[in-house]
Amino acid sequence: MMWFNLMKIKKGDTVLIIAGKDRGRKGKVLKAFPKENKILVEGINLKKKHQRPRRSGEKGQIVILPGPLDASNAKLICPKCGKATRVGYRFGEDKKKYRVCKKCQQEI
Ligand SMILES: [Zn+2]
Repeated sequence: MMWFNLMKIKKGDTVLIIAGKDRGRKGKVLKAFPKENKILVEGINLKKKHQRPRRSGEKGQIVILPGPLDASNAKLICPKCGKATRVGYRFGEDKKKYRVCKKCQQEI
């Protein structure tokens, strides 16, 4: 299950979109799909969806929801220095793996 460790963006992170129609926009990661290497970002890659009526007689609705996008199209914004950065890893003394910002070298 190595790939679970390979995905560098996690739920709750703020990311900068670097490719596609939402390029240059920022958003919060709502969900991460490590297997597919995809993420769901608030307000990014919005798609219209038809919601079926729950009961007969009710009208269906169109809702706008973010669609998953490739994690490689996003760059993490470091919460410590505020820059869009690549993520590195460091092993702590407790043998745990910590994410570090490549720009400011702080744990994130
Ligand atoms: Zn940083």
